[in-house]
Amino acid sequence: MFDRASVVTPGGVNSPVRAFRAVGGTPRFMVSGTGPYLTDADGREYVDLVCSWGPMILGHSHPEVIAAVQEAVSRGTSFGTPGEGEVALAEEIVARIEPVEQVRLVSSGTEATMSAIRLARGFTGRAKVVKFAGCYHGHVDALLAAAGSGVATFGLPDTPGVTGATAGDTVVLPYNDLDAVRAAFAAHPGEIACVITEASPGNMGVVPPADGFNAGLKELCAANGALYISDEVMTGFRTSKAGWYGVDGVRPDLMTFGKVMGGGFPAAAFGGRGDVMAHLAPAGPVYQAGTLSGNPVATAAGLAQLRLLDDAAYAKIDAVSAELRSLVGAALTKEGVAHTVSAASNMFSVFFTDEPVRDYDDAKKQDVFRFTAFFHAMLEQGVYLPPSAFESWFVSTAHDERAVERIAAALPAAARAAAEATA
Ligand code: PLP
Repeated sequence: MFDRASVVTPGGVNSPVRAFRAVGGTPRFMVSGTGPYLTDADGREYVDLVCSWGPMILGHSHPEVIAAVQEAVSRGTSFGTPGEGEVALAEEIVARIEPVEQVRLVSSGTEATMSAIRLARGFTGRAKVVKFAGCYHGHVDALLAAAGSGVATFGLPDTPGVTGATAGDTVVLPYNDLDAVRAAFAAHPGEIACVITEASPGNMGVVPPADGFNAGLKELCAANGALYISDEVMTGFRTSKAGWYGVDGVRPDLMTFGKVMGGGFPAAAFGGRGDVMAHLAPAGPVYQAGTLSGNPVATAAGLAQLRLLDDAAYAKIDAVSAELRSLVGAALTKEGVAHTVSAASNMFSVFFTDEPVRDYDDAKKQDVFRFTAFFHAMLEQGVYLPPSAFESWFVSTAHDERAVERIAAALPAAARAAAEATA
């Protein structure tokens, strides 16, 4: 299948990190998913710790989500008119996340951040955008400067195809460094439209904000007439019922969402302060649109998923995450492998270093070759990890005792492989 794909698709994949280039080997082609398991084209079953990079927070093929999709699809797949499903999904988001007074639905996280930046520029009449090295906000031209995720994996500081003029208005700063943000505002007075940050980064591995970092960003933005945009595409509806906002309570001007809110379908959103959102077309002058925005099948899936995500669901995910973190840490310690298990609520990843990781430069100092050996040993034993040392691991409510036992059984050999690996 990979040979076939490689003929008709660049690199054989439709999104770079799927290609296994960071770890070597041939990507697995999955044919089905049930609960915490994926089955590949050769009939092998894996415990899935990627969960479609976040969306599948109830596991695969959750019966109530599937039923909602089947019900919606039986009424048609797209109307290009307003519909009730998109109103209900927007109401659910507004009800859960207090700073969001109004929300606009889009089809991908990339569209959400791109639109939020445009709105911030339109609202403030300013051009410059501050972002942080290692934070990934989708493949928006202006934000592909020192981005994480696939860009981190391939070590590209930037990408061909993004012009100097586009990137020229982007100011890239080290993460967790408020002095750098202060200096940027001082160097560009009246020019910075917004600061965009992952609410808690998961695209350079999991690197949570230091105490007071997000609050400091908010304060500096307010003092300098810039908007504070919290990108919750990954953390939204995952790290708590109200995402990372539910954890740190720092009130953004704008927020972006995706992944979990689409229930495995292409649905994403951006929203926030009513006075800012009022600048969006057709209410205001900042243009933004989409043929499939608020698609009835996608919104039905997202709404069904969100409605199942109650306090008990988050308690379950948090508990599974804590158990896995302790199992992974114990296995690596037993084999004497230098490591740090880094967590932000139930998101976590393992850095193969025992030095503290506070930013992207720290993350890059880890022994990536040890992750590679660990990854392949887990894969051979039927555990599917993100194929990169710079990605979050994700669990779901479907990760039950049997799934955890299978992971636990695979860990000793993987930890040994990491210990024996050479650069
Ligand atoms: N923002 C963050 C924090 C993300 O993690 C991602 C994707 O991983 C995006 C934006 C882009 O979302 P999408 O891949 O849906 O375009």
